[in-house]
Amino acid sequence: QAKQQGRARWVMFDTAMQQKALRRLQLESELRLAQERGELWLAYQPIVSPRDGLICGFEALLRWDHPIYGAVGPAEFIPVAEEIGLISAMGSWILRHACRQLRTWQHDSGRSMTMSVNLSAMQLSHHGLVALVEQTLNETGIIAGTLRLELTESAITAAPEHALGILLQLKQLGVKLSLDDFGTGYSSLSQLRRLPIDTLKIDRSFVSQMDLHDDKRQIAEVVMMLAHILGMDVVAEGAETVAEVKLLGEMGADFVQGYYYFKPMRADAAEAAWRGQSAMRT
Ligand code: C2E
Ligand code: MG
Ligand code: MG
Ligand code: MG
Repeated sequence: QAKQQGRARWVMFDTAMQQKALRRLQLESELRLAQERGELWLAYQPIVSPRDGLICGFEALLRWDHPIYGAVGPAEFIPVAEEIGLISAMGSWILRHACRQLRTWQHDSGRSMTMSVNLSAMQLSHHGLVALVEQTLNETGIIAGTLRLELTESAITAAPEHALGILLQLKQLGVKLSLDDFGTGYSSLSQLRRLPIDTLKIDRSFVSQMDLHDDKRQIAEVVMMLAHILGMDVVAEGAETVAEVKLLGEMGADFVQGYYYFKPMRADAAEAAWRGQSAMRT
């Protein structure tokens, strides 16, 4: 009896593994075609000042709508794109597309809102990155300081010396740099001090329910203090409730990004959100 049960469980486990591997294979081959089929698009999530609730900029977030699998999240498919060598081409498209959108919005509104673009660890180690950013700035004519490139701690700690060199070159171009998901990686304070980072993005795990957990709130507070000591500004990620937003404002968060204000949206909806606030922006 017991033996049979164990066997059944093994079969189930095996099936789950097989399904995972199968999905993975399917994603791989479908992802190779996604770009030319026009299934990839960028969503834009507003980044807001907690003082007045006004939009200061947007983060571009990649989306994949597959005709059969539906929406596949970037957390699932970006690692696949990295593994099969697609991230470089995909990353160039993302950067160009986001910068063109930024130029259009800046031109139409006459305002220099910012655009944040995520870079994968692999893009950081690819030697063409600096040239790509430079070319995209030239091509679109946006003010370099309105482009914010987001990197994670792990992308930097993987090869700190190399990363530092690239970051310094990017800074030379005038773009701003953000450290994403801060608090989930292992960067040391001495490393942080040396990095030419303009913005720390406090990870959602510290923001979510920070009003209910003293430790989260205190960690967020310390990270903000640290950032300000280092001359960086702070974006708090993932605020969903009025209580969280209120606390973040009191703590001195420079910017907040979260569902409380806006979810990531299609370009036309993002533009409408921006326009809707224009009367308040004098
Ligand atoms: P990220 O860069 O930290 O982006 C923020 C993520 O938090 C986004 O998830 C966003 O939708 C989500 N988020 C924002 N506010 C809230 C909130 O209030 N509640 C909750 N529950 N979630 C919130 P998304 O779009 O699924 O992206 C996940 C990750 O995938 C990103 O994390 C980033 O690491 C990666 N990614 C997304 N787009 C790109 C891209 O164009 N290039 C690269 N290399 N990576 C990307
Ligand atoms: Mg990001
Ligand atoms: Mg993040
Ligand atoms: Mg994240």
